[in-house]
Amino acid sequence: MADITIDEMAVFCKKKGFVYASGEIYGGLSGFFDYGPYGVELKNNIKADWWKFHVQQRDDVVGMDGSIITNPKTWVASGHVASFEDILVECVKCKTRFRGDHLIEDTLKISAEGLKKDDISKLIKQNNIKCPKCKGDLEEPKQFNLMFETNVGPVKSDSSKAYLRPETAQLIFNNFKLVQENARLKLPFGIAQIGKAFRNEISPRDFLFRCREFEQMEIEYFVDPKKTNECPYIDEVMSHKINVYSAEMQQKKQKHKEMTIKEFLKEKIIKTQWHAYWLAVEHRWFISLGVAAEKFRIRQHLPDEKSHYAADTWDLEYEFPFGWKELQGMANRSDFDLKQHILHSKKDLSIFDEETKTKIVPHVIAEPSQGVDRAFLVFMFNAYTQDPKNKDRDWIVLKLHPKLAPIKVGVFPLVNKLEDKAEEVYKQIRKDLPVTYDRSGAIGRRYARADELGIPYCITIDFDTLNDKAVTIRDRDTTEQKRVKIAELKSILSKLINSEIKFKDIK
Ligand code: ATP
Repeated sequence: MADITIDEMAVFCKKKGFVYASGEIYGGLSGFFDYGPYGVELKNNIKADWWKFHVQQRDDVVGMDGSIITNPKTWVASGHVASFEDILVECVKCKTRFRGDHLIEDTLKISAEGLKKDDISKLIKQNNIKCPKCKGDLEEPKQFNLMFETNVGPVKSDSSKAYLRPETAQLIFNNFKLVQENARLKLPFGIAQIGKAFRNEISPRDFLFRCREFEQMEIEYFVDPKKTNECPYIDEVMSHKINVYSAEMQQKKQKHKEMTIKEFLKEKIIKTQWHAYWLAVEHRWFISLGVAAEKFRIRQHLPDEKSHYAADTWDLEYEFPFGWKELQGMANRSDFDLKQHILHSKKDLSIFDEETKTKIVPHVIAEPSQGVDRAFLVFMFNAYTQDPKNKDRDWIVLKLHPKLAPIKVGVFPLVNKLEDKAEEVYKQIRKDLPVTYDRSGAIGRRYARADELGIPYCITIDFDTLNDKAVTIRDRDTTEQKRVKIAELKSILSKLINSEIKFKDIK
């Protein structure tokens, strides 16, 4: 990975057609982004692989797709109407609004995790913190609800008020019973969803990392409350290694420590097998798509930082150029959400346990909740490579995993005379794979353009192709080249992209 800042990444993403500021011709809108031709492909590939890995390749997880606006009672029951808030600090003079914890972190360079309104007020006074923009005085901190409000129907009134969902999770909880019955699910099982979420963030920043409209990929995993420590899959992950940063390590100002899941459980740093299992699975998903394992750690929330409903929360964090940041939150929510919906809807959301012949309200011990846009950034930072010392290749190479690459193949005729044959090959590949055809400029220039877009394989049609019915295939990451028969091309490309063979294995 090259050392580039988040701002440089934003510039690269715009220049290469991955991500733009939304409504840029009107000056953009803070916290909103549009994905360009290559960005939309990469984002779709991330979501498709997540869905395959978490839903389609498992027996115990099914999917659903809830609406963005739902009955607003949902958000009363979940606690979002009352307390989905950040702390707002406003400048008396220039009226700029700051998120209280960010203001403290930026000015005092200390962690502000878990600070309450009064703590922030005290720190501002004690340290005489002024507006970072105009040095004006700051108002008393206030609570600020992050949900976007709207009205449903033609009349704007309190009774027509609704919200854009701030998370996808609650749609899973309020459909829990229907999904469980329709898919005939027996505990333990998970329900997954991918979709947009909206938060009126006080100060969106760090490009896609903190935006106001984003996407989430979430699973609520339900288990029998008597079996929270009985995960039948735990052996699959016992030897998996991960950097652990417990609340105790943070309090003692220690560094995170690499451990196996077995040690993590044995030392009782985490309480339940299910929670440990899902943390390992989430780490593995990123590794399966080529991201360096050591760039991640799991960090336990400090006692002050935990949400009111959570018994234990761990975040999967990634080491971005702007520090270790949350990629994914994983709270043990116990039966909080289902109980709240039972209370507010007055519906029975329990399930019948055949073993004990009693009704039970399942617990959610782990809810892997991943932001798509933050995952997008991880894959981009992990892939972005530049070696200015390499005279043969001083341009940017985007080493995206072939499964994620927006375009999988580039087809180049060596000279114009070979266009007919090249187009024939291109059209053949296009039936199955996203492919681009590039006829302009020297071949080196075409390779450079392809590398910058992360195209893993480039195919050149040369004069020999007309005789030997073979083409040259070039590997993006090593620049190695091999000769392959056109008749075998499709099958070889498909195996390479799905990691069934390595480039060096091509005969
Ligand atoms: P943060 O502490 O960074 O605000 P959070 O703890 O509020 O995040 P969750 O409510 O746990 O986040 O949401 C689950 C995931 O959704 C996060 O881990 C992140 O990947 C994503 N997410 C949350 N807020 C945003 C945002 N404003 N922009 C982009 N992604 C977000």
